[in-house]
Amino acid sequence: SDLPQTTEDILAADAHLVQSWADLNALKQTGARTAIVSAKGVMVRDSDGNELLDGIGGLWCVNVGHGRKEIIDAISKQLSTLDFYSTFYTFTHPTAAALAKKLAQLAPGDLNRVHFSNSGSVANDGAVRILHHYYERLGRPSKKLVLSRHGAYHGSTYLSIAMTTPPYSKGWSRAEGIVRHLRKPHFWREGGDMTEAEFLNALIDDMRTEIETVGAENIACFIQEPIMGAGGVIVPPKGYHRRAQDLCRQYDIKFVADEVVTAFGRLGHFFASEAVFDTRPDIINIAKGVTSGYQPLAATIMTDEIHDVISGPDGVFTHGMTYAGHPAGAAAGLANIALMETEKLPERVRHTGPIFENTLRALGDLDIVGEVRGSHFMMGIEFVKDKAKKTLFDAGLNIGMRVARKAQDKGLVARPLGHILILSPPLTLTEEQIAQIGEILRESITEVMGELPR
Ligand code: PLP
Repeated sequence: SDLPQTTEDILAADAHLVQSWADLNALKQTGARTAIVSAKGVMVRDSDGNELLDGIGGLWCVNVGHGRKEIIDAISKQLSTLDFYSTFYTFTHPTAAALAKKLAQLAPGDLNRVHFSNSGSVANDGAVRILHHYYERLGRPSKKLVLSRHGAYHGSTYLSIAMTTPPYSKGWSRAEGIVRHLRKPHFWREGGDMTEAEFLNALIDDMRTEIETVGAENIACFIQEPIMGAGGVIVPPKGYHRRAQDLCRQYDIKFVADEVVTAFGRLGHFFASEAVFDTRPDIINIAKGVTSGYQPLAATIMTDEIHDVISGPDGVFTHGMTYAGHPAGAAAGLANIALMETEKLPERVRHTGPIFENTLRALGDLDIVGEVRGSHFMMGIEFVKDKAKKTLFDAGLNIGMRVARKAQDKGLVARPLGHILILSPPLTLTEEQIAQIGEILRESITEVMGELPR
């Protein structure tokens, strides 16, 4: 093959690749990158031949595990039948149509209309554009603002980064002007002296105040990840989602769920909004797990009601991407969902997810583990210098990265995010592999504790 084979050759070629969400200067200085060359099941292999447990499922996405023949064959068969056609203008193709129908069946209630795109960022961006179209057509063009939250991650386009937590979007986005950030719903860090119930009331009061301050007539939607992912795996207080939705209904604000991570089994259901959080969003956005990452595909799934308005007699729906509903992506989605159904993967996660969760929660006895949080196969570990005061380590210590490096040396890929470590493995993990992850993390954290400056 013409591909670079050795680590040295791969990294030499890779000097031309601009990484995403990386400290590019540090990469330039140290050249420290991991080249993953192959993958099977829950394991990946790096260019030095190390076999690693994929504790992050690629990037919260390889839900059915790597190298599943059923999906690969479906993609291959699709490409030899129809390599590409778009879903623009009057065109469609059977694979995209079938996936749209399948998603409509799986999604709650009257979420029956599917607009495909290429990535979660674009699906989120699209949701807002669609709602802007919607309100324009209803003759209420002032409804443009978006309510989001501190700690959110909705993507990297100009609009989705603006909806993401402010430190990331700062100075980058003209779209900042249309986004209002509500409080981060993280009781352990933000709750102060309040009880969890009081904290929940405070969050809802804060949301109501913001709505009344800017005026509901100026707000298009509230967008929320049911569990915040890249913001540090934040699970809001119980009852939060439903109360936030009720407030949205009261003020005629659309309730949008970014289920890019939480859908397709990670929390034990195809969609989490209704099954786990008792909500019925007006729009659900998906990506990642819909194809288990085998092909890039995302979607903005909307209600019949929204679709009725945007498909009214007022002209063209001016939105869409060339690769929306790409045949290979749609084939991957259908095969992936079929596999999940045959193997009853969501049900299985309802059994193994709590085992994974409890295995990680048990690390809470370690001195530097402040909070272990999340649900099922979506977990985060927050490290603290002082457990009682919840004080953080100096950022320069790179505590998350230190633990992640140790873990990788011991055969586990975990994702550092500042002082937090994220685990989002494939959903096919066995109980034995779950125990192994727990052991590797315990050893890694203990070793790092021993090496910290006193
Ligand atoms: N929304 C959430 C909750 C995500 O976690 C991500 C990516 O991690 C995105 C949106 C953006 O998706 P993408 O990277 O496919 O554009």
